[in-house]
Amino acid sequence: MASIPSHARVVIIGGGIVGCSVAYHLGKRGCSDVLLLERRRLTCGTTWHAAGLVGQLRATQNLTRLAQYTTQLYEGLERETGQATGFKQVGSIAVAASAARLEELKRGASMARCFGLEVEILSPGAAKERWPLLSVEGVLGAVFLPEDGRTNPIDTTQALARGARNAGVRIAEDVKVTAIRTERGRVKGVATEAGEVRADVVVNCAGMWAREVGGWANVTVPLHAAEHFYIVTQPIPGLTSSLPILRDADACSYFKEDAGKLLVGWFEPQAKPWGEGGIPENFAFDQLPADLSHIEPLFAAAIRRVPALESAGVQVFFNGPESFTPDDRYLLGETPEVRGLYVAAGFNSIGIQSAGGAGKVLADWIIDGHPPFDLWDVDIRRCVPFQRNKRYLRDRTVESLGLLYAMHWPFRQAETSRGVRKSALHDRLAAAGGCFGEVAGFERANWFAAPGTEPRYEYSYGRQNWFEQSAAEHRAVRERVGLFDQSSFAKFALRGRDATAVLGRICANDVDVPIGRIVYTQWLNERGGIEADLTVTREAEDAYFIVTSCATQTRDFNWLSRSIPEEAHAGAVDVSAAYAVLGLMGPRSRELLVTLTDADLSTAAFPFGTSRIIDLGYARVRASRITYVGELGYELYIPTEFAQSVYDVIVGAGSSFGLQLAGYHALNSLRMEKAYRHWGHDITPDDTPLEAGLEFAVAWSKKGGFVGRDALLRQRQEGVRCRLVAVALERTDVLLYHNEPIWRDGELVGSISSGMFGHTVGAPLGLGYVENTDASASEEWITAGRYEVEVAAERVPARVSLRPFYDPSSLRVKG
Ligand SMILES: Cc1cc2nc3c(=O)[nH]c(=O)nc-3n(C[C@H](O)[C@H](O)[C@H](O)COP(=O)(O)OP(=O)(O)OC[C@H]3O[C@@H](n4cnc5c(N)ncnc54)[C@H](O)[C@@H]3O)c2cc1C
Repeated sequence: MASIPSHARVVIIGGGIVGCSVAYHLGKRGCSDVLLLERRRLTCGTTWHAAGLVGQLRATQNLTRLAQYTTQLYEGLERETGQATGFKQVGSIAVAASAARLEELKRGASMARCFGLEVEILSPGAAKERWPLLSVEGVLGAVFLPEDGRTNPIDTTQALARGARNAGVRIAEDVKVTAIRTERGRVKGVATEAGEVRADVVVNCAGMWAREVGGWANVTVPLHAAEHFYIVTQPIPGLTSSLPILRDADACSYFKEDAGKLLVGWFEPQAKPWGEGGIPENFAFDQLPADLSHIEPLFAAAIRRVPALESAGVQVFFNGPESFTPDDRYLLGETPEVRGLYVAAGFNSIGIQSAGGAGKVLADWIIDGHPPFDLWDVDIRRCVPFQRNKRYLRDRTVESLGLLYAMHWPFRQAETSRGVRKSALHDRLAAAGGCFGEVAGFERANWFAAPGTEPRYEYSYGRQNWFEQSAAEHRAVRERVGLFDQSSFAKFALRGRDATAVLGRICANDVDVPIGRIVYTQWLNERGGIEADLTVTREAEDAYFIVTSCATQTRDFNWLSRSIPEEAHAGAVDVSAAYAVLGLMGPRSRELLVTLTDADLSTAAFPFGTSRIIDLGYARVRASRITYVGELGYELYIPTEFAQSVYDVIVGAGSSFGLQLAGYHALNSLRMEKAYRHWGHDITPDDTPLEAGLEFAVAWSKKGGFVGRDALLRQRQEGVRCRLVAVALERTDVLLYHNEPIWRDGELVGSISSGMFGHTVGAPLGLGYVENTDASASEEWITAGRYEVEVAAERVPARVSLRPFYDPSSLRVKG
């Protein structure tokens, strides 16, 4: 066993490709007091047996940036370190065997272009020219990414390790970490079989062991291992080392030339979870038993695509474990539970292609105290504590491996591990035809099936089966009144005599308002980027009620808690489960509510932006006059045990007012028409309120200032080059989802951040940023352009506006 120092600034647990990349990048940034501890030998976990595919196109711009960086890194690593990596930029081809898959590939190609990736759309014939053994039977088209590549995972990891050592990082093999030491919510070091090591920062890169390692410090790292299969054939004549990687997602298969042989791997729809009882102690450079009956149907599909496989003998049947997360995205960043404890794990079969970028941004995060750009897609703060539940993870893993190659349908919902978190009204909504979607395990009605029809999704890229039903819900809200169950909202209580000062410091808007006022605000980072988007209601002199989205519950609560100085007299409590929320929205909402309460609901007594506790039915509820749909309406915060009785009286009274239950798809369509921003899509830590058009919520001169103010002032002085605009397509037969490129006068100027059909405006709508690279993005510059949005490689004319398409003066909201 190696002798190890008793202190290091950073300790990394795990010497797979990810741990070595974090070590390498810390070293590159000049942070060399780093100790990497590997329980056996480098690469012995999952890394050693990876197929080595290095693709670049990911679902979002920033993840694509990370994968692009990985490619650039691997390209130069051998030159830098002298250690061969086997990296080769051979390109990749993805074929489509259905019209829907072709649309998916073309949408991906449009997105790739907007991220600066080279991409070509190929006819079946052109694909065959590049990949001669390909059978194009049933193939409708293909996409070619010339800069994709492949690498040797062991050699690449060794090169990263060598680069790290060259920078002064210490790497100790055969040293198992046995515990993480913490004190008052902060990491203090690790215990190992070779003694204690004190550290300021600990990074959990323990691959499929990472859930258990996190558990030592009571940290949620939701991942589970699954078996992943590939074969390697005997040599096949005609295979050259420059052959691109081939993917046929419809056949769940990928193909890679490997020293004159073919490596063929699969992402099958029904995967086999592994290691439920824990990963065996002695697992190193191991593989799992082959399961020929499991891969037989997959093999048959691969043969149909590459018939030469039929007569090629199989040299290797490989089965190795890899870890998967509930949403197929990896887990990165500082844990909300323990300061100084970071995670980089759960790579869902793309750890080799992600390691370079993930290692770089995590090193930046550790050194700078924040990620270099928005990494919400992979941020560990998206996880919620129940997701450590092993049965939940096991059952979800059956599905998540296959989702890599399944159709990435818009609105696609997981089918496994469902029904975990439910609103108190869930059964009532289900009985009324609710079709549910899931966010962080919370079941939410997305739409309501008409009587006699099934509440089940039929997916497509066009109008899905719920389109008309959701349109009816939308119209009911615009014309009469709709009822939304928004119980999944996260809610926090902040109390104490310093509550106003603490909250005032993190809110860009002024929260020192009269009791009963609701303040819409953002929380900014020091760079002026938007970390959270929420409402704050002043309940008392020293008490606030904070409401934010379900998806950001952990993140926002963590931001709030960590913003309370130790000496401050203020405490935050997550009270999300204590309240159900009903959104009663629409021009007739007041008329309806008046029949159920004796509170004065007139605008004079109860104006927009205020909140009061009122009698409703037999209950007392907090009614907040606020909206995310752009109509007169009330959000009702109901102590959970009263939710059903309140719901029943509202629905009971509703029929005379044309009340309609409405779901999240209608909510999305309604908010899009009003250009209400959605955090995570339209506003992120990369966007400032000035760029996002939220200057109205910035209290520039409030007492005490606020975090991010200096950066905003600088930006205001320098001028804003990038602005959020509302976009409406001139055609109604295509739909916008996200990431579609925006062209202005034939030049690429931005992309769509979120999209939905607007049923009142009567057009596919989107929000998105447009950038003027030469000067500030003034209103004149924006309105002077001729716009098109690229959907599946086709440009569609569009209108663009800085103001919402629906009720730009908000007359309906305030009426
Ligand atoms: C068959 C197969 C094919 C794949 N093909 C590809 C591909 O083509 N492209 C791609 O991008 N990805 C691919 N992957 C995925 C990729 O291999 C993984 O995502 C990646 O290797 C994960 O790296 P890691 O460093 O997170 O984990 P690991 O390589 O498992 O490293 C974790 C390390 O932590 C160590 N460790 C655990 N506990 C402790 C402890 N207590 N103390 C000290 N050390 C500890 C382990 O020994 C291990 O070495 C494939 C995976 C499989 C299974």
